[in-house]
Amino acid sequence: MSKNNSEIPVPAHESLAAQALGKVDDVTRALVPPLHLSTTYERDGDGGYRSGRGYTRPHNPTYDEPESLLSVLEGGTDCLLFSSGMAAATAVFQSLLPGDHVVASKVMYWALRSWLIDFAMSWGLDVEFVDTTDLQALGGAMRPGSTRLVWIETPGNPTWDITDIAAAADIAHAAHARLAVDSTVATPVLTRPLDWGADLVMHSATKYLNGHSDVLAGALVCREKDSFWNRVRAWRRDGGAMLGPFEAWLLLRGLRTLFVRVRHSSQSALQIAEHFAQHPLVSHVLYPGLPTFAGHEIAARQMQGGFGGMLSIRVKAGGAAAVSTAANVMLIKRATSLGGVESLIEHRATVEGPSTPVPQDLLRLSIGLETPADLINDLEQALDRAHHVHGDPAAAPMGG
Ligand SMILES: *Cc1c(COP(=O)(O)O)cnc(C)c1O
Repeated sequence: MSKNNSEIPVPAHESLAAQALGKVDDVTRALVPPLHLSTTYERDGDGGYRSGRGYTRPHNPTYDEPESLLSVLEGGTDCLLFSSGMAAATAVFQSLLPGDHVVASKVMYWALRSWLIDFAMSWGLDVEFVDTTDLQALGGAMRPGSTRLVWIETPGNPTWDITDIAAAADIAHAAHARLAVDSTVATPVLTRPLDWGADLVMHSATKYLNGHSDVLAGALVCREKDSFWNRVRAWRRDGGAMLGPFEAWLLLRGLRTLFVRVRHSSQSALQIAEHFAQHPLVSHVLYPGLPTFAGHEIAARQMQGGFGGMLSIRVKAGGAAAVSTAANVMLIKRATSLGGVESLIEHRATVEGPSTPVPQDLLRLSIGLETPADLINDLEQALDRAHHVHGDPAAAPMGG
């Protein structure tokens, strides 16, 4: 990059995020942008709108800055915020046509998977779930001419399976299909799917992007503003799955600290994963940062600067002991969701119900910003106490 007295190199993404792109309010010179609550805008005498805005559903200015920032962080050309991650994801599928064929990761966010199964039936979408970590299986599922979309989640909930984004993009593009990536867990701090060839990136902004467990929001970022993107935008405008302006404002505030939060959580998660990898009461630690993890090599390539703040442990003594471990934590919160400043633990099989593919002995952990030693101590004592009751799986009936 050229440099002279009046120029500095283009700031790093971390710097752009910290300053929310550095914009200062035109009118007041405020560093923090105003919150625009107005739902409507004055029409000019000639019937036009000189501001380019007429009504809040498509045009609230409070969306502009978080959308611009997310576009930049993901390396895309446009971003749309939604009222939730589910609203963002479903807008993509609702922009497909009946009869279109979709290939989706078998391991993915539970609520989206169940919605997709129901929606496919009523909308006439042909959805096929495959193990997208297996590139041969993915390639074999493609039907050139009718496959319109490949949907992957990586790392995938809650086993953190890693799909090779670049390879999936090649396979999708060879069949003239788009590749969409649910990148909620990786965040643009660790992975930029568009750089690896994806066409769309989706986020539950409820999670790391906002990061404080106090906003429900979603986002889509596109590589190109093509006709499909226009359909997604029209769906958002007409379906009205918009977040409130205050949520957009809070989201921008959360994004300013995204890089430090994700890096800290990733470092702590790695430390915790390493600690429990050899633990006598734990049979498996599922974490892409462990060299023994199946997708580690791909993760090391497509995730930069860390492997994320999500990990799962499988309790050796079984399902009842896992439930009891979660019941015995004292610092970590028992709650669903992820990506917040506070660490959370959850027995996913209970949440997902009888048809879940998730093992009964699995506990999902979202690592927050507490000191890792405190989290390790808490898990140690919870595992110990659960072990005293359920230590011998043959002696205690399986619950949970
Ligand atoms: C939470 C989550 C979603 C859904 O997002 P909401 O904001 O809860 O609607 C989708 N994908 C992943 C990976 C998630 O963690």
